[in-house]
Amino acid sequence: MELNLLALCYLFGSISFIVGLKMLSNPASARKGNLFAAAGMTIAILGTIFLYEEDGVKLGNYGWIFGGLILGSVVGTLMAKRVQMTSMPEMVSLFNGMGGACAALISIIEFRHLVKGNPTEAISEIGSFSGLDQTKLLIILLGLIIGAVSFAGSMIAWGKLNGKIKDFSFKGQHIANLLLFAITILLAADIIIARPGETPLFFYLIIFFSVLYGVFFVLPIGGADMPVVISLLNSFTGVAAACGGFLYSNKVMLTGGILVGAAGTLLTILMCKAMNRSLKNVLIGSFGSGANTGQGSAAMVGSYKEISLSDAAVVMGYANKVMIVPGYGLAVAQAQHVCHELEKTLEARGVEVKYAIHPVAGRMPGHMNVLLAEADVSYDKLLEMEVANEEFKTADVVLILGANDVVNPAAKSDPASPIYGMPILEVEEAKHVIVNKRSMKPGYAGIENQLFFQPKTSMLFGDAKKALQDLLTEIRNI
Ligand code: NDP
Repeated sequence: MELNLLALCYLFGSISFIVGLKMLSNPASARKGNLFAAAGMTIAILGTIFLYEEDGVKLGNYGWIFGGLILGSVVGTLMAKRVQMTSMPEMVSLFNGMGGACAALISIIEFRHLVKGNPTEAISEIGSFSGLDQTKLLIILLGLIIGAVSFAGSMIAWGKLNGKIKDFSFKGQHIANLLLFAITILLAADIIIARPGETPLFFYLIIFFSVLYGVFFVLPIGGADMPVVISLLNSFTGVAAACGGFLYSNKVMLTGGILVGAAGTLLTILMCKAMNRSLKNVLIGSFGSGANTGQGSAAMVGSYKEISLSDAAVVMGYANKVMIVPGYGLAVAQAQHVCHELEKTLEARGVEVKYAIHPVAGRMPGHMNVLLAEADVSYDKLLEMEVANEEFKTADVVLILGANDVVNPAAKSDPASPIYGMPILEVEEAKHVIVNKRSMKPGYAGIENQLFFQPKTSMLFGDAKKALQDLLTEIRNI
């Protein structure tokens, strides 16, 4: 009877993940979807703690279990409440790394069980062990390698996103990375196939090489390409957790892990497409180096022109169609609400207003969608890049708010540029382009933007929130 109840808890948990994931695909239902999936997970966890039993023995260790749960929940909640929207990718990376570490720890513990059949016996001495279940060993090693790579890579990604770790690469790094990967796999194959009963030393070497690979895999990757890597590491953690589910025959862990793994892989592919990168290059950890350094970018040519607030107000107030391109600066300035006000004011004057959303604008996938949804901007007004690129031709004005790399024409025209090949928002197709930012400083990829020097572009300098508030006042006064 109890077992059935536990199976029901797992079934509810699994269904809630699938429904929650579906709800995440629309900003209007995303928040509820997240809560729904979290509720399912809570039921699955409580079910495991109170209902699971093996040979009539329950889990026990409630002090440790609830101590860990409470500590983790308090730390996680405080961090999530305090984090700035612009630092979300860092936090996602950190939490993802913790997931990878958990999966690797599960493998370490289960290896101990497998080797000695007794969790309390140490296996640090190099001795022989026999009678191993090779399938189980394979799953343990998979979880260990993927989890450790995900942990180490996510920690480096976290350090790079918050600026504490700089890009680092050396000549022949592709080969070194491939070599590290090959050594790890060979060691694992050796344990499983050649001598499953001989020595746990290789097991520890596998941990070492996996962590090293995770570090070297992420270290050389340029800032502008980090979203793809984070998404890939996320999918690694999902697969590693699924290995844990397989080991414990725990269906909800298996479903959750597979869903994260599949969703992360799909997102990685979509982002690779959006940035025109191949997955192969991501895997050998080579692409994007040179970004954030300005290497290979075209030198600044020509001069730029500024536009006054009153002129910008007239150009926009008398336009038929205005397209707004939000970017990272809009999130920094927290100007989404005033941006929505501007949209409503322009519409009240008969101006059609749309938003053009680049898939990697901001600092996390879907950043601009979340930001604008927070200000109640209608979802129908958000155009995806391909659609927006068609519509720019019919726009009188494009207003760029704190975006830079995602509108940089060097991605199309300068093969030496680190962002060359990344599809961009083709704002030059519109009649006028107004760029709001605080200075002529480059964006995330650290490269100049020729768009700012083109004849149809005018710069409106200032913090996005302040500039939009002033622009709003001017438009209301025309
Ligand atoms: P960028 O980072 O390229 O540019 C943002 C611009 O905003 C800067 O040039 C800055 O100029 C301006 N800015 C900053 N603060 C303000 C402010 N308060 N008011 C007005 N402007 C401001 O942003 P994009 O959105 O164009 O591009 C995103 C970049 O981030 C891409 O390179 C992408 O690959 C990368 N990335 C994306 C992730 C994702 O998942 N979306 C994750 C990690 C990286 P100034 O200082 O002169 O004001």
